[in-house]
Order: sequence, then C-alpha cells, then structure tokens
Amino acid sequence: MNFDLSEDQALALDAWNRFLERDIAPKVAPYRDTYIEKSVAHELLGLTGQYGVGTGWVPEEEGGLGLDFVTSGLLYEALARVSPDLAGLCFVNEGAALKLQRLGRPDQKEKYLARLLAGELIGCSAISEPGAGSDVPNMTARAEKDGDTYRLYGEKQWISNSSIADLVIVVVGTGEKEFSMFLLDREKHDFSVREVDKLGLNGWSLGQIFLDGVIVTDEDRLGPPGEGLRESMKGFERSRAFISLVALGISRAAIDDAIAYAKERKAFGKPIAGHQLVQDMIAEMVTLHDASQLLVYRALSLLDKGGKHNQQAAIAKSFTTESVQRITSLAIQVYGAAGIARENGVERHFRNSRMLTIPDGTTQINRLVIGREVLGINAFR
Ligand SMILES: Cc1cc2nc3c(=O)[nH]c(=O)nc-3n(C[C@H](O)[C@H](O)[C@H](O)COP(=O)(O)OP(=O)(O)OC[C@H]3O[C@@H](n4cnc5c(N)ncnc54)[C@H](O)[C@@H]3O)c2cc1C
Repeated sequence: MNFDLSEDQALALDAWNRFLERDIAPKVAPYRDTYIEKSVAHELLGLTGQYGVGTGWVPEEEGGLGLDFVTSGLLYEALARVSPDLAGLCFVNEGAALKLQRLGRPDQKEKYLARLLAGELIGCSAISEPGAGSDVPNMTARAEKDGDTYRLYGEKQWISNSSIADLVIVVVGTGEKEFSMFLLDREKHDFSVREVDKLGLNGWSLGQIFLDGVIVTDEDRLGPPGEGLRESMKGFERSRAFISLVALGISRAAIDDAIAYAKERKAFGKPIAGHQLVQDMIAEMVTLHDASQLLVYRALSLLDKGGKHNQQAAIAKSFTTESVQRITSLAIQVYGAAGIARENGVERHFRNSRMLTIPDGTTQINRLVIGREVLGINAFR
C-alpha cells in the first residue's frame, strides 16, 4: 500500500490549503455558535465546489469533478481542520447530489443536479426518526395513497442541513417493510423544520423535519419504488469514511494548537514542551492521529478499488471517532485551565469531536459490523 501523494494531489492540496486559510476561514469564523446561514452556505458551496469539495463524487459527464475517493478525502480532511461544520454541510449536499445522479430520472437531474453542484440549491437526506436511529427499519414516517397523490406523515430527526436545505431526499414507508424515497422541494412542498440546539458542530445545521400530510406524486419519487432503504444503505461505507475524515481534521487542529501552546507556555523555568509528561501527551495524540489516518486512507483506497469493504470502513469510523475524543481531551490538558476557556477555542475541538461517534453508525453499531464480518454471525438483533 502506497500513500505517497501524486504530483496532482500535492498541487491540488496545496492550492486548496491556501484557499482555505485565505478565503474560507474568515467566512466561517462567525458561525461557531450558530449554523452557517443559508445565503452564506450557498456562497461557500459555490466556492468549494470549484475545488472538488461538494462536486467530486459526481462523474464529469454529469457535471461533477469525478475525483477518486482518496483525493476527495484529502480535500475534506483539510477542510475539516479549518471548519468541520462546513465539511459536514458540503458532504451532506454532495451525498444528495450523488443520490440524484445515481437514481434520478433525466427530468429530475435536469431540474436539480447542476444547481446542487453549483451550490445554488442545498440538499439533505432524511432517514432517522425519533423512534428509529440505529434501528432504521423501525421507521414509521409513511406515504398514504390519496387518489393520484400520496400524503406524507411523520417526523424526521437529526437531519443535517435541514434548516438550510432546498431539497430533502426523504425515506418513508410505502408498504409492509417497504420504503421509498421522495424528493421534497421547498418551493413546491409544504413541510416545516426545527433546528436543534446541540453540544458541538454548531455551524452544522441539524434538525427535525415535520411531515404533516405533505402532498407528493409519483413525479416526486426518487429511484425505484420500495428500494428507498436499500439505496440509502449503499452510501454507508462512504459516509463512515467521511465522518472519519472530519475526525482527522479536528484531531489535526487540536494537535497543532497543543504543540504551539506547549512551546510557548512556560512552567518551572522552561516551555512546558520540555517537560517529559507533556511530551508524553503530545506523543499519544500524534500516535492516535497517525493510526487513524492510516485506517481512513486504507478505507478510501479500498472504496476506489470498488467492491464491499464494510469492515474496513467500520474500523476506520469507530477507531478515529473514539480516538479524536482522547486527542482533543489531551489538547485541553496541555493547555491547563486555558483549555477550558471558550475564548481560547480548544474546548470547541473537544465538543465537536464528541458529536462524531453517533452519526453513520454509532461506535457500537460499527463494532457489530466488524464483529459480523469477522465472525460471520449477525448480532444486531
Ligand atoms: C452530527 C449528526 C448528523 C446526523 N445527520 C443525519 C442525517 O443527515 N440524516 C439522518 O437521517 N440522520 C442523521 N443523523 C442521525 C444518526 O444517523 C443517528 O443519530 C444514529 O443512527 C443513531 O441513532 P440514535 O441517535 O437514535 O441512537 P439509538 O439508535 O437510539 O442508540 C442509542 C444507543 O444504543 C446503542 N445501540 C442501539 N442499537 C444497538 C445494538 N443493536 N447493539 C448495541 N448497542 C446498540 C447505540 O450505539 C447508542 O449508544 C445524524 C446524527 C448526528 C449526531
């Protein structure tokens, strides 16, 4: 396995990093306690898309940049160091664009795909519900036939981008243990949204979507009837690798902060970086980060090769998202009391990292995936 960057990857990453510091960091700075507002989100998606973030997975012939997963992952990792919130926003939008590209009818793609890729529209995917998180098939949101139309009833919860989305790809029951996807357009369909106040990643919109008799037709259906859940599950390997990239970005930012502080802060007559137990903390952080990075790059390179790699994606996701909490907690410890003051920014890495063991399979669910792959026994139920 060779993880050396190609010349093209190194050039792209260099340009991207300079762009992130110069153009993106100042624009996202005001959105640490509230979600990135819609007008800014449109602008940022338009900018990042030109570098392949938000556009990379869609093939060139369909208007995307057609990047491989490793290259796309390197770009997302760098973005997450500067803004894990924007990384989430872009990833969720890109996931919606990819679903549309894979499953949409020509008229649906014509209407929405180019605009999603340009950031003119913002998308999201709504699967989770108050009574169905890990246990996805327990969803109760449903489409009831009403003459030539359907009415959608139910509630979706913990939906990324929900407050700013123009398009919602929603999965609802259409029969006994049968689920279908519908494409809800904010301009056409009547549904309401509530943002949730949360622990971290506060620039990343997360909320509830209420379906109270939303009228849809077969025209609004996305993909084959009855395939909504199976199609949604297909994206999990990619999304697990992506959440791992957010963890890597947060880890890197916390390590950079801790190293800079340790060199500057003095105690007992010398920089604390010169004390052996502070070096031990830095060494542990770097070791966990390196191990996480290798696991994520392996998962991404396997995704590029094709085939199923559930086990490697689950290992990457569970290891990196647990490790990032230890890394960011140690960063606070290196800072001492200064680490808990909101004005110094280090505690934010910790709060952000705490969000990541939950989406796209909790740590426990990913361990069950690993167990199933290794043992050949499904312990989910
Ligand atoms: C930042 C963030 C973004 C998200 N974005 C989206 C989105 O865009 N769209 C969307 O649809 N959803 C989204 N979600 C929701 C996410 O997919 C769910 O939160 C996740 O699937 C877990 O479901 P739950 O929170 O209901 O926890 P539960 O499923 O209720 O789990 C509670 C606890 O029980 C454990 N548990 C459950 N079942 C088992 C089992 N069989 N064995 C052992 N332990 C078990 C879990 O590991 C967990 O510790 C997001 C969540 C977060 C935090």
